[in-house]
Amino acid sequence: MSSGWNLKEPPIEIKHTDLERVSEDSSYRSWCPKCNKGVLLVSRPLHVFKLNRTERCTLCGQPFWYTDETVNGESFVEDQPRHLTPEVLAAFKKLSDTLPSMPLPNQLNFWETLRKYIEAPED
Ligand SMILES: [Zn+2]
Repeated sequence: MSSGWNLKEPPIEIKHTDLERVSEDSSYRSWCPKCNKGVLLVSRPLHVFKLNRTERCTLCGQPFWYTDETVNGESFVEDQPRHLTPEVLAAFKKLSDTLPSMPLPNQLNFWETLRKYIEAPED
């Protein structure tokens, strides 16, 4: 059988906490509850420190939507503060690429600024 036979199915809402983990070594990777053979991951978008709510089974392609508040204490992308716009995040991402070559005070300043953005109250 080829893979991806559930690619066009509508997303199924699931709780990550209710899924069976692939191994005790990973608190994220679970067996796909649709085909029971593929693996369901928890991924992170590149530019934010949060998790994706949508995932697809690596084998059958079934889309899922995590309904948990958090997974292992980490929150999901749409819970991010509104002021962390894609533009702001892109700017931080761009800066972070040059971070290793910055002098230490500049690096600390980067993290301090990022922290202020993350902890700023919603308006
Ligand atoms: Zn599957």
